[in-house]
Amino acid sequence: MPTIRETLRDAARRLEAAGVPDARDDAALLLSHVTGEPQLNLRADPERPVSPVALAAYEALVSRRARREPLQYITGEAWFMGLCLKTAPGVLIPRFDTETLCQQAMERMNGAERVLDLCTGSGALAVAIAGTFPQARVLAGDISDTAARLARENAARCGADVEVRLGDLFAPFAGERFDIIVSNPPYIPAGALKSLQEEVRREPALALDGGPDGLDFYRRIIKEAPGYLVPGGWLLLEIGSDQGAAVCGLMAKDYREIERYSDLNGLSRVVAGRIRDGVYTDHAAEDRP
Ligand code: GLN
Repeated sequence: MPTIRETLRDAARRLEAAGVPDARDDAALLLSHVTGEPQLNLRADPERPVSPVALAAYEALVSRRARREPLQYITGEAWFMGLCLKTAPGVLIPRFDTETLCQQAMERMNGAERVLDLCTGSGALAVAIAGTFPQARVLAGDISDTAARLARENAARCGADVEVRLGDLFAPFAGERFDIIVSNPPYIPAGALKSLQEEVRREPALALDGGPDGLDFYRRIIKEAPGYLVPGGWLLLEIGSDQGAAVCGLMAKDYREIERYSDLNGLSRVVAGRIRDGVYTDHAAEDRP
């Protein structure tokens, strides 16, 4: 029987040859996932043999990873703001980058706000906010039924009170007003989708494709949000690192206190702004003939 050391070495070589970015880390993580043993245990005792049953299961997962399936789809989980969320093919994997948006939203909360998370995907933002502020009323929406179901599952799994509705952007929230609206919408320019990392191309285009210039969803959200914000309410958006000026420009007319925030890599990652006084859209009126 091969030892833990040999097993990890062989897997890391295979993953490396397949072009997997963090081959050694992923090899160790998958072995820990298969055996149910913390990585520290495995490292502490590398000469221990790996059982044939564990080895067979491990080989299957390593093969999937070598085909560039995202690690988080294979393990079925991803961490976000200290929460272990469930992942599923067909739904964008929560990213560390998005914690910047989450933190900025949380800094604007006292606890009793009504919060809306548009394009919630796995529910990461909504679940983290609701879990931290149990007095808040947190709603979330997504156009994908697979995403809406996963978001509900993640809320239940984390004991967070989130109401998830299915529909296109604001459509399921007619007649409601929020203190804070957050969104990590699709923002990759359509033409750039093909050149994304292999793993990202396994994620749903629906969650990534922001139209010809990547700004389609910002245009819609920024235009429609005044109909769903209370006076002084905040809109916070995750952005691609080169979209800051464009998104700030789109917000200039109806929002004030517009700020950009960077992630830990120093890249622009969030734009936030408050609705200007007097900008009030009665969206119910828009629906009348
Ligand atoms: N940050 C993601 C990526 O670079 C994109 C997420 C999105 O479009 N909302 O893959």
